Amino acid sequence: MGRVKAWLMDMEEDATRLSADEFKKQHGKKHIYIWEEANGPETPKIKCHHKTVLMEKLDGESILVCERCGEDVTGEVIG
Ligand SMILES: [Zn+2]
Repeated sequence: MGRVKAWLMDMEEDATRLSADEFKKQHGKKHIYIWEEANGPETPKIKCHHKTVLMEKLDGESILVCERCGEDVTGEVIG
């Protein structure tokens, strides 16, 4: 039986039930990638809901970009 595999499975299980901070406390920062695989990228403290969008020009087209996270939110705002 692979001990490493069991440990990995434990971490994967923890990833689904712990917050990112709790996970880091238990398993160390370097294993946060496992948490991210289960939950998506660890978002910084600022939770972005794209409240401040900027109009930018890209290849002659106007796109909407979030001022805080820099994400292209054109589809979200219009679509
Ligand atoms: Zn944003």
